[in-house]
Amino acid sequence: MALLPCGHHAPASQIRLCEHLLGAAQSDATETAHYRFLRGVRMDYDLCCRNCGDHVRGGENIALFEACETCLAVFSDPDYFHWLGAPGIEERLVVFDQHLETRQFPAALANAKALTPLADGRVLALIGDEMQIFDEEGARVVARVVLPDEREPNWSNRRLTPRLLVSGNSRLAALINDYGRYGVVVDIEQQRVSMSLDRGDYHPEQTPFPVAFFEFGGRTLLVHGTDWNRLDVSDPRTGELISVRPSPTYKSGEERPAHYLDYFHGRLHVSPDDQWMLDDGWVWHPVGVPTWWNLSKWMSENVWESEDGESRRAPIYGDYWNIPMTWLDGRRLAIAGLGSDDDNAPLAGARIFQVENGEEISAFAGPDGAFFGDGTRLYSVGSDGLEIWDVEAGARLGRIADFRPNFQIEGALVEISGSSWRRWNSSESF
Ligand SMILES: [Zn+2]
Ligand SMILES: [Zn+2]
Repeated sequence: MALLPCGHHAPASQIRLCEHLLGAAQSDATETAHYRFLRGVRMDYDLCCRNCGDHVRGGENIALFEACETCLAVFSDPDYFHWLGAPGIEERLVVFDQHLETRQFPAALANAKALTPLADGRVLALIGDEMQIFDEEGARVVARVVLPDEREPNWSNRRLTPRLLVSGNSRLAALINDYGRYGVVVDIEQQRVSMSLDRGDYHPEQTPFPVAFFEFGGRTLLVHGTDWNRLDVSDPRTGELISVRPSPTYKSGEERPAHYLDYFHGRLHVSPDDQWMLDDGWVWHPVGVPTWWNLSKWMSENVWESEDGESRRAPIYGDYWNIPMTWLDGRRLAIAGLGSDDDNAPLAGARIFQVENGEEISAFAGPDGAFFGDGTRLYSVGSDGLEIWDVEAGARLGRIADFRPNFQIEGALVEISGSSWRRWNSSESF
């Protein structure tokens, strides 16, 4: 076997090193952030030191040398690198039906403070203090809804933002303040407020309100934040608390009680099969820690599943939360952003995780903006419109220019802008 530039008789790794990183010890690699120098082919990269990175940025070439796997092992820490260069975005263009169904709603819909599409093609909207259902002819009032007054968050550019969501059967709706503490649930059929929501006053300004409907055992249930580190499940028609358990508390210096959760819940995403909950929350350093756990286990086996149950997975410690993420199906999910990069935004792309064991299956560059999934494909909504991705190939299948869906309902992506409504049936277009 040939002698490599790193000084070892061994097979060469795919990744090359600049001369300054050849023979670097573990301490050198972790004390000085280095660059992953992308080669323009998928996520393939070489490694170079900061000095060499500055030369590359200045338009110069640098020399790179082959090294063995042992010499590369010291650079495996995902927290100590920055990106340099550009990844390659794969394209495998396919022909598909780009037809968009369009509707024009009454002009009053453009005044909505919050809205969400219903499966039947109508729209639920908050107009002033009224929850109204719009069709193309007009609107009818469902209920009057008033949230308690609360202060604007005193934090960077975050604003109290009312948001509406509906249950899968469109019979129940929740109105909550993202980056705020209050919300209400409305029984649409009975046209009345059925319960109120309050997640307390400890840092609600950091996250959208944690709230989601799901189906379990033939019932529609609601998960909702009741404290910074606690989620509860209630019957949204009656307000009956289902996830009855004590709230472990402790003060610094005391011993931590069992099931105490040191985690700020964030935006919630339910898997399409209603089996899993994904939580875009964070912990003090601060770091973003997307976390998921099994809903069935929570409901039927272990009331502490959301705190420290055996199905709970949290494989990423990142610099961000409130980031795009979506379920693909009941087995896989996608989280936006490639690699931790202290000073800069993470590289646009998707990381795909296996739900059950929390392992990262793949990562590829390209997807940017809001994420949606439909079981087989990933959709991202960038500034130019919708982009469609094959998750297995890590490749772009196509685009729909100027279509920027902001909702997904029953196999369709829906864009509501002003009083215009457009729907693309993703599941029937390929
Ligand atoms: Zn160097
Ligand atoms: Zn070596």
